[in-house]
Amino acid sequence: MSVMWDLPDFDGHEAVHFFHDVETGLSAIIALHSTHLGPGAGGTRFWHYENRETAITDALRLSRGMSFKNAMAGLPLGGGKAVILADRNRQKSPDMLAAFGRMIDSLAGRYVTAEDVGISTEDMVAVSKQTQYVSGLPVSDQSEAGGDPGPFTAMGVYLGVKAAVKHKLGRDSMEDVHVAIQGVGSVGGGLARLLAKDGARLSLADIDKDHVSGLADELGAKVVGLDEVMRLEADVFSPNALGAILDKVSIAHLNVPIVAGGANNQLATPEDGQRIFDRNILFAPDYVINSGGIISVGLEYLGDSDVEEVNRRIEKIPARLTEIWEESASTKLPSAEVADNMARMLIGR
Ligand code: NAD
Repeated sequence: MSVMWDLPDFDGHEAVHFFHDVETGLSAIIALHSTHLGPGAGGTRFWHYENRETAITDALRLSRGMSFKNAMAGLPLGGGKAVILADRNRQKSPDMLAAFGRMIDSLAGRYVTAEDVGISTEDMVAVSKQTQYVSGLPVSDQSEAGGDPGPFTAMGVYLGVKAAVKHKLGRDSMEDVHVAIQGVGSVGGGLARLLAKDGARLSLADIDKDHVSGLADELGAKVVGLDEVMRLEADVFSPNALGAILDKVSIAHLNVPIVAGGANNQLATPEDGQRIFDRNILFAPDYVINSGGIISVGLEYLGDSDVEEVNRRIEKIPARLTEIWEESASTKLPSAEVADNMARMLIGR
């Protein structure tokens, strides 16, 4: 029988908690990768997994990702993640969310949650009735950050794309810079709007045909095919939909000098960071460029959710990326590896 310590994605995680609530049938895993910098913070994913091993692997990977993301965002927070094992129909009930809230509360603040895939702001409000260790709750005062982190993530990605264009192409303006965006939801759609204001040329792809064509009409952008977007000749490819899209095959077909987008875990394997580097494509490590949302959620939790402070911190993302790219150039290491090394130094690993 293999246990947690034997799994390939075990990375010195401090703890992995397995919970079950008999009354509601709720099963959940809360993984704490590191609490070196503060309580392990990261969202809750509500997902139907084919088997338990996949759910554990997801929790291990995602919680490590949160350690790195929070450290690189300069937040006094560690890395944690919760996954709720949903049934095939992904049925959710108020009783299940209440039971989940009690599970979080039993960890007495070592884990702080927020929303992730399959979880809404309303779900978080339900969880917050059982525990104080929740963030990303709606705010009524617009001078405060909080609620949906998407717009803050989009702003960070926008600033990161501009920094990449400056670094790689030496251009100070986005006027006529061609950006191919995969996924125009909360993050990709927000990014497209910000870039359109700067006069960038946009090619958009999304599985939601009505949504993408509506946005393209609004912004004067072009809609491109789902397969085409990653092979398009452009200045920037910006992934804002799925993870693991950069692999041996897709990297070989990229026709851009820059990859910079908000999707989590873009590299299918660590070797793909080297493959991008070998093709002389500038890559923005995802957990650095997409940290705007956690900066908002994190500061909200820490009681410093003044929106100006959140924006000040998001404005530091370009400098952090530039530092990574400069170190990557001088050490000849892929930018993803440089970022991981920096994050590990910060969390003492
Ligand atoms: P979203 O659900 O609002 O948008 C995702 C969009 O991608 C949708 O419009 C969907 O139709 C589209 N899509 C799905 N599969 C696609 C495919 N194969 N090709 C093209 N489009 C496809 O999600 P979001 O909040 O915008 O998040 C996007 C990515 O950014 C995710 O990887 C997420 O993990 C990551 N991220 C989000 C945040 C945040 O604050 N929302 C923070 C950090 C990272």
